[in-house]
Amino acid sequence: MGSKKKVVSNTSPSLAIVEVNPNNNKAVVPIEAPIVSSYNDRIRPLLDTVDRLRNLNVMREGIQLPTIVVVGDQSSGKSSVLESLAGISLPRGQGICTRVPLVMRLQRSPSPEPEIWLEYNDKVVPTDEEHIAEAICAATDVIAGSGKGVSDTPLTLHVKKAGVPDITMVDLPGITRVPVNGQPENIYEQISGMVMKYIEPQESIILNVLSATVDFTTCESIRMSKQVDKTGERTLAVVTKADMAPDGLLQKVTADDVSIGLGYVCVRNRIGEETYEEARVQEELLFRTHPMLSLIDEEIVGIPVLAHKLMLIQATMISRCLPEIVRKINQKMEIAVLELNKLPMVMASSGETLMALMDIIGSAKESLLRLLVQGDFSEYSDDQKMHCTARLAEMLNQFSDNLQAQPQAAIEEEFLMVEIKLLEECKCIGLPNFIPRSTFLAILSQHVDAIHAKPVQFIKEIWDYIELVLSSVIGKCSDNFPQIQSAIKRAGRNLISKTRERSVNRVTEIVEMEKLTDYTCNPDYMTSWTQKTASQQNFIKAVLYDEEKPKSFSLHGFGDVQISHLRNYHAHLLQQAFDMKMRISSYWTIVLRRIVDNLALYLQFSVKNLVNSQFQKEIVAEMVDPRAGGGIERMLEESPSVASKREKLKNSIKLLKESKDVVAAIVDQNSGYGDR
Ligand code: GDP
Ligand code: MG
Repeated sequence: MGSKKKVVSNTSPSLAIVEVNPNNNKAVVPIEAPIVSSYNDRIRPLLDTVDRLRNLNVMREGIQLPTIVVVGDQSSGKSSVLESLAGISLPRGQGICTRVPLVMRLQRSPSPEPEIWLEYNDKVVPTDEEHIAEAICAATDVIAGSGKGVSDTPLTLHVKKAGVPDITMVDLPGITRVPVNGQPENIYEQISGMVMKYIEPQESIILNVLSATVDFTTCESIRMSKQVDKTGERTLAVVTKADMAPDGLLQKVTADDVSIGLGYVCVRNRIGEETYEEARVQEELLFRTHPMLSLIDEEIVGIPVLAHKLMLIQATMISRCLPEIVRKINQKMEIAVLELNKLPMVMASSGETLMALMDIIGSAKESLLRLLVQGDFSEYSDDQKMHCTARLAEMLNQFSDNLQAQPQAAIEEEFLMVEIKLLEECKCIGLPNFIPRSTFLAILSQHVDAIHAKPVQFIKEIWDYIELVLSSVIGKCSDNFPQIQSAIKRAGRNLISKTRERSVNRVTEIVEMEKLTDYTCNPDYMTSWTQKTASQQNFIKAVLYDEEKPKSFSLHGFGDVQISHLRNYHAHLLQQAFDMKMRISSYWTIVLRRIVDNLALYLQFSVKNLVNSQFQKEIVAEMVDPRAGGGIERMLEESPSVASKREKLKNSIKLLKESKDVVAAIVDQNSGYGDR
């Protein structure tokens, strides 16, 4: 019997066989075994794909890649296990050595010359086997400072070497409960936060490194992995220092008190100044010959077994995850493209900016026409404030009610006294039955003065409202051009304030006109006056000749009016005053309606005018006026925030597209691999 055969895989239906040569006691690493060639044909492309995705940094886009994450309490032997797998020296020993996430990408290479380099912060630092430890420490100092602090910026160590398994693992800082000298107070929170971030995604395989010398149930790393993987279905345990605590190790791994779904592998790492080859020989010897350790199943001991298991688990995980990765890449890409399209365009010439400005003005004008004139609110169906024709009509109705509710009594103390006083002042030599027109105009003027503030106030409110509408329409139409948005809005405000000023003048005129002339062709005036004066004789009778001297008289349209104070006046004066009162009140109703009508027509006219002709003129003038800061030129410069957003989105899309291409090829080729 020349060689002894070990069956070392229980995760794959196909068996991997490791040849052990008893003569020189050297285990041949599994990748050299015959079965491995098929592994290489079929699984290596998967690993390459994930590595390329990792290289492309798709994790930055929030896409998780299947990753083996090495966790363990401090000094449990994490770095030693990685060393054993990679066959290189890593910073090892007491105290805190690993202070940043160390991504180890092991890649088998046919060339006998190992290629080793570090990558961090977009830098590539070549190194070699002797200087790895130093290089890692130096890089760690750069990333996390030379103190004892930790950082979650990863450092990638590439090892391309003959005889290493194709795996990518992340080594994380060891979990310490108590800060050692010089470590920040919250070191535990920092490290456990970092560990959690890595082991939380379902795509992560947790390689839990446990020292044989401790009680597994007390391990912090077990406690943490349990939080994210209760059943342990993605947790594999590596038990180190088998040589230091051989007694009871078999019981520990068979009892599985801490429920590890993917099983245990017991190892013995390099001790002291041993070479890796020597370490493997010693390990093989230890598990074969030690009275206690030799009882442990061969399928779960030794670094070669660990390497092989990791490769298979990784391959399974990758093929299971790929479809989801493809889906996520597509989804992220769609979102990024949509967002990019939403960003404002970049202008190259002043011609383009002018076109864009005209576009903004055109669309704003159309919106305003729909909202203010046509009453089409489809653009703002949920925003009542923007349903302008309705709101304007409401405001007009309110104004009209408010104007007509003006109590006539407010401008007179006692019934007919205003008329009597004014008539007395306008006395002249003439016949008593002519009513002096100047008195009528004086009373009319008093009435007008009493209300003249209201129409002005109303028109101001109208323009305040239209200003709000204009500002939101302009805002919406120029949203893509933040650099000129404020200039356009300013132009809009200027336009409104000019229009407001004009309107106030116009409305003041409309009101003043009513003072100048008393005229109406409305027959209602005569009808109303005739009706009202009909009771004149009765009124005079009640005031002057009624024996009972009634205190009040019921007058149609005025209610019960007090009359006692009128008894001292002559009949003809009272008659004149009464007549005057009736004329004024009949006429005043007509005046008020006329003011409302006029305002309504003027409002419609000025809104249409504003939208149809003023708006475009004003904004163009403002935007191309070099004295006003030449708003339009600013469209040529992109705001820095938009520029950086665009740059980021473009990079994301490029990266996602590359990733998509990388994955697409492999998914087609490997369809049906997911169940392995
Ligand atoms: P880490 O803090 O988890 O990275 O642990 P290290 O890999 O730095 O190991 C801590 C100490 O344990 C070092 O002194 C190693 O030499 C030692 N060590 C690791 N694995 C073994 C092993 O299998 N056997 C023995 N005897 N010592 C080991
Ligand atoms: Mg370490």
